Amino acid sequence: MTRPRLDGDRIILPGIASTHSHAFQRALRARTQRRSGARGSFWSWRGLMYELARQVTPEDVFDLSRFAFVELAACGVTAVGEFHYLHHQPDGTPYDDRLALSDAVIAAARDAGLRITLLRVHYERAGRDAPPVGAQRRFSDADVASTLRDIEALSARHAGDDGVRVGVAAHSVRAVQRSSLGVLAGAARAHRMPMHAHVSEQRREIRECLAEHGLRPVELLAEEAVLDGRFVAVHATHLRPHEARLLGQARAFASVCRTTERDLGDGLPDVHALRREGARICLGTDSHAVSCPFEESRAIELDERTRAEARHVAADADALLSAMGADGYEAIGWDGRETDDEVHLDALDPALVGTSASPEGLADAVVWGASPRAVRTVRVAGRTIVEDGRHVREAEARRGYLAALRRLGIG
Ligand SMILES: [Zn+2]
Repeated sequence: MTRPRLDGDRIILPGIASTHSHAFQRALRARTQRRSGARGSFWSWRGLMYELARQVTPEDVFDLSRFAFVELAACGVTAVGEFHYLHHQPDGTPYDDRLALSDAVIAAARDAGLRITLLRVHYERAGRDAPPVGAQRRFSDADVASTLRDIEALSARHAGDDGVRVGVAAHSVRAVQRSSLGVLAGAARAHRMPMHAHVSEQRREIRECLAEHGLRPVELLAEEAVLDGRFVAVHATHLRPHEARLLGQARAFASVCRTTERDLGDGLPDVHALRREGARICLGTDSHAVSCPFEESRAIELDERTRAEARHVAADADALLSAMGADGYEAIGWDGRETDDEVHLDALDPALVGTSASPEGLADAVVWGASPRAVRTVRVAGRTIVEDGRHVREAEARRGYLAALRRLGIG
């Protein structure tokens, strides 16, 4: 853990990683939150997300993603893990260049100056004995070999860019059959890549997994030898104590995405249990309902306090800084030598002013008090991408974003 340090009127932090992002979903902010008739759920939100996913072109994906990444950078993020599942044309036919949409997202992140790990998602079905339907056809591949070829092709194509990594992802135990899970994990190990999967975000997924396999999702992942120090369980929400132990024994990560989990009514992961068992924690801005890494980090502890009706439950400021920084970087395949990534906060920001200059005082000030308003400068690989609180590409990215919304008929 690298603590913040004070330099004049700046508080200087190492780089910050958002380990779980679906950048195109930025377009859903303030378009899916309003009540429409009956009570909403994750599944009703998913229907709205699918409507957007069904329509977007490669140009739309670039424009929506670039603006999401520009905003993320302006909020202090330097590296993003993009859990990318939009691959094919609306009828499921691959583009002439199978990597067109992955490349659009990578280009968007690089244009915004962020490091990106493109987590190429394997998706093959709507559920047990259920072929993909509607928007899911854009996500799906007939076999795991096609996905692995794309992962290798993406790695080769971007080998010359030090700001790009590629990783493996299984969408979830709902969308990927049992026999494919171990194959994907084996490929991740062979290529020394991270492997991510959505895990137990919703209780329905657990019921379906039990009905199909007689196992809960983490039990299934353990049986298929998926769990290790490269594995990132995204959400890890509805776990039994022994499932937290399985993740902990493997030194796996849990990517906690509290602002999205709150927005979608997902439930509360037991971060205290996960950390006690040895699992590592990182954070993600997921649907970009909110883009603030400081809010993501403190929510991990504050939401635990609400559940426990106690203070100091899951993680202190040092642990949350590690989740934002070094652990987050490792979870998306960076090695911790990215020391030329920096985030500078204004020590005179009203939320930070008067902070103790001790290392503990600065850590507490950042985690419990900082907001994107305090972000002055962001550097990635030594290049300044945010200056005086504004992203250097903001105006152009905003124009592209608004044009994409108009093309989609929602601008
Ligand atoms: Zn997700």
